Amino acid sequence: MKPASWNGQLRSGIHSAAALCDAFSELAPRRAMLEEVTGAYPVCINSYIAGMLKGPGDPLWRQFVPDSAELEDTTGMIDPLAEDSHAPAPNITHRYPNRVLFLVSNRCAVHCRFCTRKRKIGRSFDVTPDTIGQGIDYISRSRQVRDVLLSGGDPLLLPTAQLADILGRLRAIPHVDIIRIGTRVPGVLPDRITARLARTLARAHPLYVNTHFNHPAEITPQARRACALLAEAGIPLGCQTVLLKGVNDSGEIMRELMQALLGMRVRPYYLHHMDCTRGTAHFRTSLTTGLAIVGALRSHVSGMSVPHYVIDLPGGGGKVPLTPDYIQAVDGNRLLIKNFRGDLYGYDICPQDAETFRGLPEAGVRRAHTGNHINDKETP
Ligand SMILES: *Cc1c(COP(=O)(O)O)cnc(C)c1O
Repeated sequence: MKPASWNGQLRSGIHSAAALCDAFSELAPRRAMLEEVTGAYPVCINSYIAGMLKGPGDPLWRQFVPDSAELEDTTGMIDPLAEDSHAPAPNITHRYPNRVLFLVSNRCAVHCRFCTRKRKIGRSFDVTPDTIGQGIDYISRSRQVRDVLLSGGDPLLLPTAQLADILGRLRAIPHVDIIRIGTRVPGVLPDRITARLARTLARAHPLYVNTHFNHPAEITPQARRACALLAEAGIPLGCQTVLLKGVNDSGEIMRELMQALLGMRVRPYYLHHMDCTRGTAHFRTSLTTGLAIVGALRSHVSGMSVPHYVIDLPGGGGKVPLTPDYIQAVDGNRLLIKNFRGDLYGYDICPQDAETFRGLPEAGVRRAHTGNHINDKETP
């Protein structure tokens, strides 16, 4: 039998609670619950991903199989980043002066149960030639926009000709320097990445693709091939990983993931702390966990594979990077700075810096507190 095309893999996937119970008999006793959850948040698992699901507890299962916890979370927000209320044109979020987020597809290759746009995906989410036209008009009127981020849904699920049309119209706008595509396709529907698609994308250079991988299990030979096709078309590849409880909330898993990404020429870009989206509370870790993971990455892998750990402020405040506190205390004209091993080093500063860091604890207090030995380097 001829292997299914990517469209075939989408069509033959799991799109209902009934299909889920047919595919995994252990789910049959929970069918009523699954009907209820998928009534609120539809399920979509293409056949490539369905074939990789092993059972409850595996990192892919947790990301894609509906769970009763989704209906138990009532504290989260429907639209945590206020994307809909801040839209100057349909499916446009213009938060930072020089770049816009533009949703050009309402479909995904798989529905992530932790999705920030859970409110729309597979439900009411209009993307039409008219919304796309209005978005492009808005961008062409907004001279300060230099960078357009295409997302959705997943832009790479659009038919190639339609994607080519959108990219061509954006490229014709003189003030648009950079086009970025946010997509989970290389990891969840890798056969969609064809030579023809890569050529289409390359015609819109400078074009960047930010992928989305959350666990080393997603890095299969097919995913490697997909990333290689894009890289060979000259497309710089990044990755936006989401920190997920029970999936990748450990230093070891994250280290393996980041190293494997670099091995595919994918540069880790962001590690997203989970947004406060309703129906996703069971995926949220503490910030302490996230900071510890970033610290563990810093000390064990190359700086090239350490993503920025970011929170997206609720209500549309934008992304803010969080870093572990390396600067520990001030000691007159010296800072006490912790290195990757946790050892303290003195670092001489100028009077302006002393002013900047005035709010820090005094060295004596800090030393007594941590019992840390301070490494004194000879200063010339
Ligand atoms: C994340 C985001 C961007 C892009 O931010 P970068 O830090 O440049 O990657 C732009 N607009 C919105 C609304 C976003 O959420």
